Amino acid sequence: MSTAKWETVIGLEVHVELSTETKIWCGCKNEFGAEPNTNVCPVCLALPGALPVLNYKAVEYTIRAGLALNCKIQRHSKFDRKNYFYADLPSGYQISQFDLPLCYDGYVDITKKDGTTRRIRIKRIHLETDAGKLLHAGDDVAAADYSLVDFNRAGVPLIEIVTEPDLRSAEEAGLFLQKLRTILKYSGVSDVKMEEGSMRCDVNLSVRPAGSSEYGVRTELKNVNSFSAVMRGIEYEEKRHIRILEEGGQPEQETRSWRDAQGISVLLRSKEDAEDYRYFPEPDLPPLEVSAEEIERIRAGLPELPDALMQRLMTEYGLSAYDASVIVAEREYAQWFLHAVELAGAGQAKTVANWQINELYRVMNEKGLGPEQIPVTPEQLVGMLKLIEQGTITGKIAKTVFDKMVETGKDAETIVKEEGLTQVADEGELLAIAREVVASNPKVFEDWKAGKQSAAQWFVGQIMKRTRGRANPQMALKLVTQALEEQAQK
Ligand SMILES: [Zn+2]
Repeated sequence: MSTAKWETVIGLEVHVELSTETKIWCGCKNEFGAEPNTNVCPVCLALPGALPVLNYKAVEYTIRAGLALNCKIQRHSKFDRKNYFYADLPSGYQISQFDLPLCYDGYVDITKKDGTTRRIRIKRIHLETDAGKLLHAGDDVAAADYSLVDFNRAGVPLIEIVTEPDLRSAEEAGLFLQKLRTILKYSGVSDVKMEEGSMRCDVNLSVRPAGSSEYGVRTELKNVNSFSAVMRGIEYEEKRHIRILEEGGQPEQETRSWRDAQGISVLLRSKEDAEDYRYFPEPDLPPLEVSAEEIERIRAGLPELPDALMQRLMTEYGLSAYDASVIVAEREYAQWFLHAVELAGAGQAKTVANWQINELYRVMNEKGLGPEQIPVTPEQLVGMLKLIEQGTITGKIAKTVFDKMVETGKDAETIVKEEGLTQVADEGELLAIAREVVASNPKVFEDWKAGKQSAAQWFVGQIMKRTRGRANPQMALKLVTQALEEQAQK
């Protein structure tokens, strides 16, 4: 199968739950993981006579997300009813936004592995209501004996971010989602946890002959629950479309469900169009007016966003683009870094970055810790760096100390005291050891005499072994050279 003949066109619809304290139309708590049906009231259960009252925080968060994603903000918008029947939707309609989304015309820039940058346009971001959640007793809906419904999620504010069909590959979609997630997390509007469903993604995909400007028939892929599932789902659909096209057929316009465990997509339903939803303005809510001053107030409240921070880490602290990008990728990592540099001084920024990227991330990876579980505080790292700077411990020992800090949560100073890891920088003591190792290894000594440079390093290694890595390396080399020269005079 040749893919060069074909071009894949992908657009994403990303749903993100906003982390407001309460739901969008009532005062019920917006909380993940509560006992089923404990955060519910007549409004979010859509009981007769209950009326929605807008939680303005949800509007503010949506505008914040829109500004962070370079969108324009609609000053006069409204809410609409999107009518459909589903068991987890008690009202029989979803309050959403149809022709006047709160945010529109934005973009996200992504940087690919080959270093090229691509701009992915965002068509719109609208604010809507999440539905409840069905739990099926069985492997899937068809095989379930019964289903249970939890309405805790019903009425949680949700934004839908719709991209233009600008993505061309699974790689680009993965990069876009990561970047989007990072930006939203910095903005503080959502915890964007795909595993808890606070970020969900539908994929629209079509394939057309390379170079064509017409779109092919698209299919929508639903239930894609992780970044890797999005990428696998795209690769699967891409192949499926190309196979149909190369056999002379035409893909159907349909909605399919991604089954990640099996690595396949299955037909869910034929695609419905907007008119199937019978949209009309929500009669229970007034139109939404946002003043220019209000938008500026929200803009002023935005924190430094990932792209700007990455630039600053490079120009202000001299970090490489790669180092800056891995630190910026998670908000917690960036905060940790900035705090450590504040304590250690800007001159130590590169050293902090090295420890963070090489040692801290390695340990966290091994232990399977997430960014909100960083096991060492900036104060602890900087305390350890001071011990190296003062010559109390060697760089080599510092790695042991670091691992012990992670294990025990104790400060470096305490660990060094308890374990006797202080650097040996006593000239007399080290010279005695140097003389001894030179005298007891005549073969290596002869090698050195014959001009083999690495022999001196080998002796330094012996000293490190005897002192369990506690010898000052520069001093050890100096004293080994002295001992070797003495031996040669004899
Ligand atoms: Zn409620």
